[in-house]
Amino acid sequence: MKLHEYEEFRHQVRRLAQEKIRPHAGVVDEESRLPRDSIDAFRAMALNGLPFPEALGGAGGDLMSQVIAVEEVARVCGSSSLVLLIPWAALTPLVWFGSEELKQEIVPAVAAGQCGASFCLTEPGGGSDLRGIRTRAERVAGGWRINGQKRFISNVGWSDWYAVLARVSDNAFGVFMLHCDAPGFRIGRHERKMGMRGSPTADLIFEDCMVPEHRVVGDPERGHDYMIQTLTYTRPLVSAQALGLAQGALDEAVTYTAGRDQFGTRVSRFQMVRGMVADMAIAVESARALLYRTVEIAGESNDGRARGFASMAKTLCSDTAMKVTTDAVQLHGGYGYMKDYAVERMMRDAKVSQIWEGTNQIQRLLVAKYVYDEPGSGRARV
Ligand SMILES: Cc1cc2nc3c(=O)[nH]c(=O)nc-3n(C[C@H](O)[C@H](O)[C@H](O)COP(=O)(O)OP(=O)(O)OC[C@H]3O[C@@H](n4cnc5c(N)ncnc54)[C@H](O)[C@@H]3O)c2cc1C
Repeated sequence: MKLHEYEEFRHQVRRLAQEKIRPHAGVVDEESRLPRDSIDAFRAMALNGLPFPEALGGAGGDLMSQVIAVEEVARVCGSSSLVLLIPWAALTPLVWFGSEELKQEIVPAVAAGQCGASFCLTEPGGGSDLRGIRTRAERVAGGWRINGQKRFISNVGWSDWYAVLARVSDNAFGVFMLHCDAPGFRIGRHERKMGMRGSPTADLIFEDCMVPEHRVVGDPERGHDYMIQTLTYTRPLVSAQALGLAQGALDEAVTYTAGRDQFGTRVSRFQMVRGMVADMAIAVESARALLYRTVEIAGESNDGRARGFASMAKTLCSDTAMKVTTDAVQLHGGYGYMKDYAVERMMRDAKVSQIWEGTNQIQRLLVAKYVYDEPGSGRARV
């Protein structure tokens, strides 16, 4: 895509988000319900299939177009952006490494927005240590038998398909595509959450759950590697979501302060308010610049540099989202603390961006590894 095509696409998604998604964002959060109106809107613009190849019913959109779509949706509704991006993440290992047969079985229905797909790494024992997972897959006649449990899985219920990372031996892991009707599979406890309340989050339980042989993705011993490569590609999407939340909160703060009077003048005339708004704008544009640079690098390769930049972008965008949404609440005074104003929801939605897809402490470890390990990445090699 050329620059003007990206901008045209951005305007189309922005219009859709303003007209079809924003009006329901508050209710979706309040009632903790799946944003069905947003899913209809995504279908109308064929967004569900944006990243998938045309041969699989997708639009073949590149990472930049995905980032733009997520950013514009998150600007008005964090939950809707999560419902949109999780199936993209979940099907990335399949699209990159899966068999043609398995892709044809799964991707077209998800691309058409008929159902979702979830990405299943985290377990009750922990999410940061990917190699510590305990869910086991054992090869049996005709397929694999899975036992274990996943925790905090997004879009549960809306998803028909679950991409599950499971241990196949002491030091190897496979990715298994599980259908929601698989024998031995059930959804466990649903979480009650601070934010992102429109995307259902729950445990998944596997009790002698049978997965046919053809539903393992690629090489059953290379799942860990597939997931690491996938995370390098999907961290920019989570970054875009955080950036969208920050931009949305900045929009709200500017509108509110430009319309509110205190001491006989507009609040937006006060220097301390202007200084805060300036810092928010600087933070948002800095995060956007790093994210777009990361997208460029990710388009060139999926190596250590791409991983380093993905972690930098994820950290900066999510820390920016937390800071900017908190400041936006501050600039609304007492009203910012009330559910009648979108910034209250945005601040709650922003928090999780510092936690998931690898916490920001883990991202900082990855950035430091990149700086020390990759020649020329830091100012100096120590
Ligand atoms: C709303 C929500 C939705 C989610 N959706 C999904 C999903 O769809 N799929 C999925 O697989 N997961 C999902 N997750 C899980 C998420 O990715 C994990 O919560 C996250 O990776 C952290 O894992 P944990 O909660 O087990 O924390 P832990 O790993 O137990 O970490 C606890 C604390 O210790 C810190 N810590 C851990 N190790 C280190 C270290 N080496 N150095 C420094 N600090 C460290 C962490 O940063 C954190 O502050 C979701 C989580 C939430 C809250």
